[in-house]
Amino acid sequence: MIVVMDLHSTEEQIKKVEERLEELGFSSHLIRGVEKIVIGAVGGNREAARERLELLPGVEKVVPVMAPYKIVSREYQEHGSIVKVGELSIGGEEIAVIAGPCAVESRETLLSAAQAVARSGARFLRGGAFKPRTSPYSFQGMREEGLEILAWAREKTGLKIVTEVINPQDVELVASYADILQIGARNMQNFALLKEVGRQEKPVLLKRGMSATIEEWLMAAEYIASSGNSNIILCERGIRTFETYTRNTLDVSAVPLVKQLSHLPVLVDPSHSSGNWKLVAPLALAGLAAGADGLMIEVHPNPASALSDGPQSLTPAHFHELMQKLAPLAQLMGRSLRQEALVS
Ligand code: PEP
Ligand code: MN
Repeated sequence: MIVVMDLHSTEEQIKKVEERLEELGFSSHLIRGVEKIVIGAVGGNREAARERLELLPGVEKVVPVMAPYKIVSREYQEHGSIVKVGELSIGGEEIAVIAGPCAVESRETLLSAAQAVARSGARFLRGGAFKPRTSPYSFQGMREEGLEILAWAREKTGLKIVTEVINPQDVELVASYADILQIGARNMQNFALLKEVGRQEKPVLLKRGMSATIEEWLMAAEYIASSGNSNIILCERGIRTFETYTRNTLDVSAVPLVKQLSHLPVLVDPSHSSGNWKLVAPLALAGLAAGADGLMIEVHPNPASALSDGPQSLTPAHFHELMQKLAPLAQLMGRSLRQEALVS
């Protein structure tokens, strides 16, 4: 159960509620978010406690939550969350498109990718500066120099920047450059990292772990939210199955399911889902048709020379073509998709 406190409730009122919860046999956990002060309570008799707690000064409402994840659940908040990213938002009417290379490789390639995706209507630029590679011998990313290049490309194009953080110690650094912090599949259950991104205010894009159940994924989101940051965007990026013809298997059903279970926006990443650029367009369309709030797509000016994930990267021309196909589908879904650059 969750006790939602009035944002202007006093310390004394909060303390009174905590004391009452203890008397009623609950253990409680205070969460001070930017928009809400809530007290998570477990263990006691919910039915008996609810009415009594709602009478206490400073209490806005008491919400019984059956799911193990609380703040991110639909039970907790009926309406879908819209995550603000500066003047843009994710989860609203407009489909969010995040596009760009797997990794930041150089000024020239990033700017070329950024300008191309901006021209086709993307509003967010992706690019890893810290790369979580399966092999320690693969390109590991340009680190802070990569972050500087991303910020420079933002200046040039107006695109917002989405980039991955892989280490709790780097959260402050990455947050000082990025508009959205990405938690990759391999780190979905890196609880120290989740708590650290939860303690800062930039929105967090949380990818599903390649072997994570939907519940584990939502519990990971709960770690971030319970640390104080509920600006979370989920991203389905394919899960590991017995199939070997694709890099991962896009779990399309996760999209409508997670949207029923949680109020958080959900994106689909057709690039890492498939590992094959020829499958990116159909999977992107499938993701949108399943109700995704946006897409994350790898685009490289010259996929054959990409330092990582070239085989799944679209050329700017293919990306442009895909945006044309997505637009009427977005409309059919009651959404919109921008197809031109904000500034040319
Ligand atoms: C990425 O988006 O750069 C990435 C590494 O993806 P994932 O964490 O989904 O494998
Ligand atoms: Mn990649």
